[in-house]
Amino acid sequence: MHLNRVKNKKISVEDLTLNFREIEPALTETEAINESNRCLYCYDAPCIKACPTSINIPSFIKKIASGNLKGSAKVIMEANPVGASCARVCPTEELCEGACVLNDASLPIMIGNLQRHATNWAIQNNEQLFEAGEANGQTVAIVGGGPGGLSAARELARLGYQVTIFEAKEKAGGLDTFGIVSFRLPQEVSLWEVEQVENLGVEIRTNTMVGRDISVEEIVNGYDKVVLAIGMSKVPMLGIEGEDADGVYDAIDWVESTKTPPLDQQFIGKKIVVVGAGNTAIDAATCSVRLGAGDVKMVYRRTEAEMTAYEFEYEFAKQDGVEFRWLTQPVKILKDAQGKVEGLQCVRMELGEPDESGRRRPVAVEGSEFTIEADAVIKAIGQTRYVNLIEEFGLEHNWGIVKINMDTYQTSNPKIYAVGDVIFGDGQGDAMVVTAANQGKLTAHSIHQEFINQQVTV
Ligand SMILES: Cc1cc2nc3c(=O)[nH]c(=O)nc-3n(C[C@H](O)[C@H](O)[C@H](O)COP(=O)(O)OP(=O)(O)OC[C@H]3O[C@@H](n4cnc5c(N)ncnc54)[C@H](O)[C@@H]3O)c2cc1C
Ligand code: SF4
Repeated sequence: MHLNRVKNKKISVEDLTLNFREIEPALTETEAINESNRCLYCYDAPCIKACPTSINIPSFIKKIASGNLKGSAKVIMEANPVGASCARVCPTEELCEGACVLNDASLPIMIGNLQRHATNWAIQNNEQLFEAGEANGQTVAIVGGGPGGLSAARELARLGYQVTIFEAKEKAGGLDTFGIVSFRLPQEVSLWEVEQVENLGVEIRTNTMVGRDISVEEIVNGYDKVVLAIGMSKVPMLGIEGEDADGVYDAIDWVESTKTPPLDQQFIGKKIVVVGAGNTAIDAATCSVRLGAGDVKMVYRRTEAEMTAYEFEYEFAKQDGVEFRWLTQPVKILKDAQGKVEGLQCVRMELGEPDESGRRRPVAVEGSEFTIEADAVIKAIGQTRYVNLIEEFGLEHNWGIVKINMDTYQTSNPKIYAVGDVIFGDGQGDAMVVTAANQGKLTAHSIHQEFINQQVTV
């Protein structure tokens, strides 16, 4: 896609806005039908097993081929309540498309794009795909309205539960609404999924932070069950001098600022340095390019071989002209007399013996200090956890990773369940939208199974 860049010319806010349009073009009707007709409709299809939400992929593709787009969208959204977002944000090469048998012969079926085609039809035709179940008298509070919380809410409402979502932000959808770059996932797609859930009678109390606007006791005592789906928190501090300078940003806040207009024009032509080399760091860097920055660098203390970003994300950043500085460790943020960032002091590193993660440990090279000029520094070195809130709920955790029973999603308090990024780590799933969606769905079924068991006992 053509990017509007600043090169000795002024760039308007309209040009910047165009930079944030969805990059991947949608399939046309004919392209979608032709692609659907390439599917072999495998028996025991490996793509279904590779999809964390087990969408019946051959079935939804067959429905596209026969022109039944509503039926197709229903198959997708039945298995995955945020299937329209996942169509755009899933790392399909690693999941469904990576498992397609056609990888050996030609190219895999474009499962993500076909999923987007069918769900786009539902969005454009304003279809409400599911209905609430008959009320069963049970109440559930869901803390956090991201993909994990929404998915649990959607399934519980269909099973007859009265569900209330407590969401700290002004809109639900979590990182789908505020954290994933607009040029992959426009906000309106996520908000359509929120609407699908609200239309089932789920109450979404936005601008309501649990622990601040409503107490943990009210939540725990006021409902039959609680689902904790709060995700993860801010990027941690770098722990270096000068971090309080004006012009130091958190990568997640940085991406969020580009999700809602108007776009900030103060970075046009500026020099931006991103610290980190994961997928979030790439997002921060590619958003910076789209905000008109003249020079965007990423610094990472290890090498290309150890970076955690997906290969396609890395390629994408390179195409955007982002420069990578490997074996580079920031040691100080330099600021001018007004306290504004003016540079990043770094040292060169070399790799030593492997550490506990199995990756070779970077070691500073003595006397190798150098400075990179910068107008802004973006921190993208992971995310912290909501440890205080987890402890207020009295739940067992490991550094903020809530411990759960992997079969039931119950925490150390059997009345409270946990899903999504709040349980990610220690081998408990992945930090992906599709994983949170699946865990939300399974948690709803687990809550319902327990209710059925109680009825039988009574
Ligand atoms: C920049 C970035 C890019 C990403 N890109 C991708 C991608 O391309 N593909 C992919 O699959 N995954 C991606 N991810 C990961 C993915 O977004 C998460 O794994 C997923 O959103 C987790 O869902 P969740 O529901 O657990 O948490 P979240 O989406 O974080 O939602 C949690 C919700 O809880 C709310 N909340 C928190 N505390 C409280 C409280 N005390 N009271 C009430 N509400 C509260 C928050 O406001 C938020 O809405 C990305 C993550 C980031 C940070
Ligand atoms: S939800 Fe994700 S992994 Fe599953 S079929 Fe869709 S794109 Fe593939």
